[in-house]
Amino acid sequence: MQKISDRIKNIIENQHVLGDIRPQTGFYPSSASVEYNDPVLGPTAQGACLRKQWYDWYRFPQQGEETISSLGRSLLGSWVHDGFQNLLKSIQIYTDLYIINAEHAFWKPNWKLSGRLDLLCFDKKENRYVILEIKTVNKEWGPAGFKQQMECPKLEYILQGTCYYYAYEELNPKVIILYVNLLSGMNVDFLFEFELIIPKNNTDNIAVTDGSKITQFPEISMAKIIERWNTLNDYIARKELPPRDFWPELSDEQLTALYYADKLSYKAETEAVKKWLDKGAVEGQLQMPYGRSSKQCSWCPYINLCKKDFNEFNVSCPTSDTLESFNKKMESINYVRDQEIRQQDNIDYF
Ligand code: SF4
Repeated sequence: MQKISDRIKNIIENQHVLGDIRPQTGFYPSSASVEYNDPVLGPTAQGACLRKQWYDWYRFPQQGEETISSLGRSLLGSWVHDGFQNLLKSIQIYTDLYIINAEHAFWKPNWKLSGRLDLLCFDKKENRYVILEIKTVNKEWGPAGFKQQMECPKLEYILQGTCYYYAYEELNPKVIILYVNLLSGMNVDFLFEFELIIPKNNTDNIAVTDGSKITQFPEISMAKIIERWNTLNDYIARKELPPRDFWPELSDEQLTALYYADKLSYKAETEAVKKWLDKGAVEGQLQMPYGRSSKQCSWCPYINLCKKDFNEFNVSCPTSDTLESFNKKMESINYVRDQEIRQQDNIDYF
């Protein structure tokens, strides 16, 4: 008889069996992205890959990515996250930061955008609404990444926060990304925060401040995020696979360019390219320690599918209806969702 622990492990490590088979009906802040011209690699994106979202939309089978060890990491993150939310609730009278709603759901039908905020608060000291996004970070999960995040939040968090602001723009909220730094074990070291500086006009760009300096993101605006979703929408409507935004397999030339620009992610990668160049850069002999994909592709659950041409697959999209009936279904699902969110919403501000 198979042990219970083995059964659980088996399901976690082959999580595609848990995949949601309902068709997707909208976009999420976590899938926001903008076009970007990388000075070394050329046209790419910041944030989510359109092609990955296209696979997500049609519920293509995912490669099992989760392992027991990575599950531990995400569980620890979510425990701290939930515990921290509760702590903030219990001390709100002292902090003057009153929690209006946790996990508040929103839906912007014109952008097909839905999501949930961590915390919607009212700051009595500043007489202003605050959207609080809680993120956890841990030095042991990668010193380089940790240091980077102390300088500036991850781009996907900035894109996410931008969507939150415009979803609640009637409130003109402050958007704060609050980091909880975990030490080894369950100790929490300290907190640090960033505020997103978001213009009223959604075509203007976003900036971020840690209170002492301001970092501009000229390539990020809500209008550009919406533009990408519109592009994705067109690909979805045509059932046509979008081009890749990243590189499942970087060429020798690209890796060399990244090396000279000091843009390789890990020391071991820099050393591998240096050794290969020193030995005469023979084609086919560059062995990269963590594989040759760009970062986004290395954790993408569709990498094997993406490397091949879609037409090689006899995959019919799960929504095999006509486009007209599919759109009709989406409209009615969106209507129901809109009603549900309004009903559960106990704040009278829209
Ligand atoms: S492998 Fe890379 S390019 Fe392909 S879908 Fe995934 S993230 Fe996009």
